[in-house]
Amino acid sequence: MSFTLNDLPLRDDLRGRSPYGAPQLDVPVVLNTNENPHAPSPRLAKALAEAVADTALGLNRYPDRDAVHLREGLAAYLGHGLTADNVWAANGSNEILQQLLQAFGGPGRTAMGFEPSYSMHPIISRGTGTGWVAVPRDADFRIDVDAALAAIAEHRPSVIFLTSPNNPTGTALEIADIERIARAAPGVVVVDEAYAEFRREGRPSALSLLPDHPRLIVSRTMSKAFALAGARVGYLAAHPAVVDALQLVRLPYHLSAVTQVVAVTALDHADELLGAVDDLRTERDTLVGWLRAQGFSVADSDANFVLFGEFEDRTRVWQDLLDQQVLIRETGPPGWLRVTVGTAEEMAAFRTALLKATGR
Ligand code: PMP
Repeated sequence: MSFTLNDLPLRDDLRGRSPYGAPQLDVPVVLNTNENPHAPSPRLAKALAEAVADTALGLNRYPDRDAVHLREGLAAYLGHGLTADNVWAANGSNEILQQLLQAFGGPGRTAMGFEPSYSMHPIISRGTGTGWVAVPRDADFRIDVDAALAAIAEHRPSVIFLTSPNNPTGTALEIADIERIARAAPGVVVVDEAYAEFRREGRPSALSLLPDHPRLIVSRTMSKAFALAGARVGYLAAHPAVVDALQLVRLPYHLSAVTQVVAVTALDHADELLGAVDDLRTERDTLVGWLRAQGFSVADSDANFVLFGEFEDRTRVWQDLLDQQVLIRETGPPGWLRVTVGTAEEMAAFRTALLKATGR
């Protein structure tokens, strides 16, 4: 008997949808999911293993439901006078975003984003029964704030996503623009700062706006700059009332004792983990300059990836790179590709493969 997804009593609004699907392929040069290329040092790996071994002795008990120790550490890392009451943590910032939509979105409500942007924002919105309104960015991938304000007035979204730096374009938002949108928003404004640590000089974080905007939420992750994607730790900073709201929807004991102790230990070694961020920013700027010198269009990037194009057949270029053992990402507007900034060696392999793929 052939039985497929279509035979299941799936929710109507999920029928025909595609799951998130960045390919996970076993190739030597992996530059497709904006990971940090630097693995933990043996010293740090040992510290993590020891902390986990200690925790293992108490795994018969549920973990701290409120992850207080971790939230204290994250608040200290963020600065800006924040305390554990302002911070909430979950399994990756994706879970943070899901909890936010569970609390502030839902059936009959709408979330809004400015596309192209992070593909999970509409996916998590729909998964929580929240309507999705996409407002297009301008030709430079910036948000036209006047158009944004008009769309907000028209749709009255309960949740607005501002991704800064934006994925997949790398574009950072001006603080003044975030503030204008926050003032006009009828609901919560989520500034997704997954790539915050990679910003170029002089671009402040939306954290500075929190004291004046109690419905503004800044979402962060340890997956990128902290080089800890495998541990699944995301977090937010907001008014304590937002943290109270999330307690209503989070599953009890959602963050395992192992995850919590790994994250706390990683924070103790923040200097080492964040040590490569400056190098990656330099490598990114070199890459942008090189791509432009080859005649490609390149979006300005404040992140650890670069969007470049434009290709008549981007799938062919993507596949040609993969045939040369370099995996990048086919995402963003038609004709563009996104490459994550890796080590100097990985970028050299990427450059060689791209020249060959494009006959330059
Ligand atoms: N926000 C943005 C903009 C991202 O690009 C990503 C990961 N690609 C995430 C959030 C989620 O990351 P994580 O769940 O690993 O924290």
